[in-house]
Amino acid sequence: MAANLIEIVKQAGVVGAGGAGFPTHVKLQSQNIEYVIANGVECEPLLNADRLLMTHYAVEIIQGLKAIKDTLGAKEGIIAIKKKNTEAVKALESRLQPGIRLHLLEDIYPMGDEQVLIYEVTGRIVPPAGLPLDVGVVVNNVATIYQVDQAIQGQPFTHRLVTITGYVKTPLTLRLPIGLSIKEAIQMTGGAIIDQYRVLNGGPMMGGLVTNLEEPITKTTSGLVLLPTDHPLIIEQEMDIQQMIKRAKSVCCRCEGCSQVCPRGLLGHGLKPHLIMRAVSYNLADLNLTASYLCSECGLCIYGCDMGLSPRKINQAIKTELRKNGVRNQPDRSRVKPHEMRQYRQIPGKRLEGRFRLQELPHKTSLGERVMIPKMVRIPLQQHLGVPAQPIVKIGDQVNVGQQIGQIPEGQLGATVHASIAGKVVQIDDYVHIQGS
Ligand code: SF4
Ligand code: SF4
Repeated sequence: MAANLIEIVKQAGVVGAGGAGFPTHVKLQSQNIEYVIANGVECEPLLNADRLLMTHYAVEIIQGLKAIKDTLGAKEGIIAIKKKNTEAVKALESRLQPGIRLHLLEDIYPMGDEQVLIYEVTGRIVPPAGLPLDVGVVVNNVATIYQVDQAIQGQPFTHRLVTITGYVKTPLTLRLPIGLSIKEAIQMTGGAIIDQYRVLNGGPMMGGLVTNLEEPITKTTSGLVLLPTDHPLIIEQEMDIQQMIKRAKSVCCRCEGCSQVCPRGLLGHGLKPHLIMRAVSYNLADLNLTASYLCSECGLCIYGCDMGLSPRKINQAIKTELRKNGVRNQPDRSRVKPHEMRQYRQIPGKRLEGRFRLQELPHKTSLGERVMIPKMVRIPLQQHLGVPAQPIVKIGDQVNVGQQIGQIPEGQLGATVHASIAGKVVQIDDYVHIQGS
């Protein structure tokens, strides 16, 4: 089954659905793995597509996890889930198989961060700048694992569950076709209930600002969150980096509030955002700015800062600059240990929500029944890490749902792409545009 599953998953275009879109068939070739963790933590406030997936598709997730565990020859498959998600816990518990167990977690942000999660579940710390493989672990999001099971059932990755929430008429979680525009997805909830808003693609903490509502839903879209333009997390996203540096120079008091809550710093990785803020404020060259590579961009330092600063934004800018100048993240495999105050400095989800005015918004959505077949989809040829897929259809071709339209260029890292609706290919650029029949 091992080689077989790798090929099945590759042909179905499965990629990491919870984040960067790393091609799953490559992850399935990892060696010396002891634990496969199914990440069902979903620690972003307001999102609950993963919770609904685990509640309604527990059998599929357990089957998918078992197939991955067997392929990797791992000792155990562990589904990590928050205790508070009682319905999903119940659904999974009643269907467990030998070699698969649940690991229940507290409602702490960002519990779903891969490195935090590995420590919580196994007690192992991924070395700074290391990978989960360094400690014998592979982590997959539950949405990815569901797609692995679908691949085994012969279904390629063409649709996904997306929570659409925030200031919308009826917050919902819907099964949407890849390539549907964000605008149409929002319309399905009845639309925005405020005039001045922005959309985050992902959760409120780590989602990216949507600059064009015509952009499509992709394999990595877990949620769309509408927030008012004066929301602190939107202001942070929209603020220009030069403005943030100016602010840091004038108001950063080196209080270390950001470093005290930084989850990567608390794991023992050498990330101290207050030092990075000092370095950029005073143009200090003596500090090792490659530490910015250790930042997961979780945004907790914004929570920790009473001066309205965002070390995260500075870290993002430093990483961009370092990459541009060819400065790479230095592999550091040293063993580290967590900060002795770690357990007292963790931030409960509720406190985070209170700080960012999210507590009054709906926290649970129901799974919408409506099947969406749009008139047009724009399916990106790149929804994953690696190189874009090569189109294997041409303008004028008729395609069916699930038909492959993009292939992985020979010998490259990438993922296959499939049609999410039946129709005619009307344009090909960075996307395959399909007009529904
Ligand atoms: S960025 Fe904010 S929290 Fe961090 S040291 Fe400066 S003032 Fe303190
Ligand atoms: S975003 Fe802030 S809190 Fe999160 S890892 Fe980066 S520096 Fe630390």
